Amino acid sequence: MVFILKPKVEQDKINAFISAWESRGFSTILSVGTEHTAVCLIGNTSGIDMDYVVQTSEIVEYGRRITERYKAVNRTVHSDDTIITVGGVSIGEGFFTVMAGPCSVENEEQIVRIARSVKESGARILRGGAFKPRTSPYDFQGLGEQGLSLLLKAKKAAGLPVVSEIMNQTQIPLFEDVDIIQIGARNMQNFDLLKAVGQMKKPVLLKRGLANSVEELLMSAEYVMSSGNDQVILCERGIRTFETMTRNTLDISAVVLLKQKSHLPVIVDPSHATGIRSLVAPLSRAVLAVGADGLLIETHNDPANALCDGGQSLDLNQFEQLMSDLRKRAVIENKRM
Ligand code: PEP
Ligand code: MN
Repeated sequence: MVFILKPKVEQDKINAFISAWESRGFSTILSVGTEHTAVCLIGNTSGIDMDYVVQTSEIVEYGRRITERYKAVNRTVHSDDTIITVGGVSIGEGFFTVMAGPCSVENEEQIVRIARSVKESGARILRGGAFKPRTSPYDFQGLGEQGLSLLLKAKKAAGLPVVSEIMNQTQIPLFEDVDIIQIGARNMQNFDLLKAVGQMKKPVLLKRGLANSVEELLMSAEYVMSSGNDQVILCERGIRTFETMTRNTLDISAVVLLKQKSHLPVIVDPSHATGIRSLVAPLSRAVLAVGADGLLIETHNDPANALCDGGQSLDLNQFEQLMSDLRKRAVIENKRM
């Protein structure tokens, strides 16, 4: 149940309202928006007479029952779009933020060269995997700690914030200078990891699991938010279907649905969604057209010799072309790139 408060209520009255519910055993989420402030109750609210509360409380404008299990991520609780700012870059409604870089950091020359080039083309955030979740234990597992330190060198060289995937809680200290923590598809329901990054003070890029529903993705975001971190970016990266000609199937309707159900920014990874380089640009245009907040695109200086995911990576020229195309379309969509 959520109570939307009247405009300009004094903070001590809000605190008293919250304390009263908490003393009755409910947890609460306080959501402060530009339009209104709301207090959401978590717990068994079936016995609450909502109309009675609205009539008797001097600070409540109206109440609403929330049928969904996700609360903090729910647009009904928080109607304003969340905009996340990292290193001077904004992610969320009104912006179309492109994150680009290789699947894996391979060496200093590679990552610095890619970083400079994608920045020149208009990418706002550099991606680069150091800890790689690979299906086969015999495949390249990423450079680990060394990969992260090379990524941070590229961050400095190009002046771009960086995003990189964390695989477990023990790695948290290594990610101190990483701007956005990526939770990969395979870890979307690693609840201990979600709770741990929920205690961090930096944005989390949460990728949808290979076989997870939209509701499960929202519930995973709820884990992060209910642990104290409200900077969550949702990422649709394709799901496993009966289709075998693409690596995954891009669920474009999920993008629109997520934007409707949640106030969190939604970006799309067309590289992993398809596994096919020639599909990345056309789908990126679709992603912009349906109102997503950005893209995560694998980009490599030499895709044919990439240590990981070369077949789905754009080369630096292809990325440049895509960006100049998207910039024109972003004007029509009223999005800032
Ligand atoms: C990645 O971004 O490199 C990655 C492994 O993605 P996903 O978790 O979506 O498979
Ligand atoms: Mn990859």
